[in-house]
Amino acid sequence: MIPLFKDRLSAVNPEFETFTSLQTLQVNLGNLCNLHCHHCHVNASRRGTEVMGIEVIEQIATFLSRHPQLTLDITGGCPEMNPNFRYLIERTEGLAPHRLLRSNLAVMAEPEWEWLPEYCRQHELTIIGSLPCYLEENVDGQRGQGVYQKSIQVLKQLNALGYGCDLELNLVYNPGGEFIPGRQHDLEAAYKDELRVRHGITFNHLFTITNAPIGRFREHLEATDTYTKYLQLLAGRFNPDAAENIMCRSLISVDWQGKLYNCDFNQALGMAITAADGSEIYLSELDNSSISGKKIYLSEHCYCCTAGEGSSCTGALLP
Ligand code: SF4
Ligand code: SF4
Repeated sequence: MIPLFKDRLSAVNPEFETFTSLQTLQVNLGNLCNLHCHHCHVNASRRGTEVMGIEVIEQIATFLSRHPQLTLDITGGCPEMNPNFRYLIERTEGLAPHRLLRSNLAVMAEPEWEWLPEYCRQHELTIIGSLPCYLEENVDGQRGQGVYQKSIQVLKQLNALGYGCDLELNLVYNPGGEFIPGRQHDLEAAYKDELRVRHGITFNHLFTITNAPIGRFREHLEATDTYTKYLQLLAGRFNPDAAENIMCRSLISVDWQGKLYNCDFNQALGMAITAADGSEIYLSELDNSSISGKKIYLSEHCYCCTAGEGSSCTGALLP
């Protein structure tokens, strides 16, 4: 029997169940993607039909102009494939001190999107690129044949443009199965060595992210009858020291329709933030709806955020 995540969290400190103040606006541009990874929690693919339109992008720009110190975190799917991607980047220019683009990297090697590396440089986007391993067989096993070579080609291009030096380039590791990442600090050192020696690639930081037991990864766990075992592993490695910093205390996630969630995982599960009357809240209403001190919507998948060193969109939660 796995205890409720909510109870474990509030036993550490009841305040950890509540939202504090907004630091990051994470926007999910939809579920279109050139890849079809095994661990994908949003079930993205080339057949994705959820695509953020101009109207929601305008709401994002308006919100950022009223809240000028926020980090804008752009995700998907593959956000670059949204036909309005460039509109979002150009419309939010100067409206957020940090704009993060979560990229699967491989898309930047596709003929239609070869303009992306230079475009990202021009707009000074921080790139957070997925590279689940420094070994080809592991990346291709998780993300598809040929993805590793494309990612390496793009990382070299980004380095040549100043990424990893003048502009920030971070990489994301996630486990190739139902286990918890090792120490972020050690993995970062191994990635830096391996990528430098094998390919001459440099980058700033490695973020280790634990696989959430939802979406396509949950389907895999259920198909292999390991869902409960994985949850037990996450719950068994619950780390009270990670609890205080769960990202949903300072981040709000926006979906392609402008609806709000505590994080991208809750978004994938359809667990939208609701007002006192039960209605869902949209970004356009956020200025009028106070969410400070509001309880976060928690469930068993949340154990992926507090296992081991903890996990968030910017990596481990322990220093
Ligand atoms: S994990 Fe990322 S790159 Fe892979 S299918 Fe999902 S959205 Fe696309
Ligand atoms: S899954 Fe989302 S809501 Fe749950 S603890 Fe993690 S960030 Fe918070």
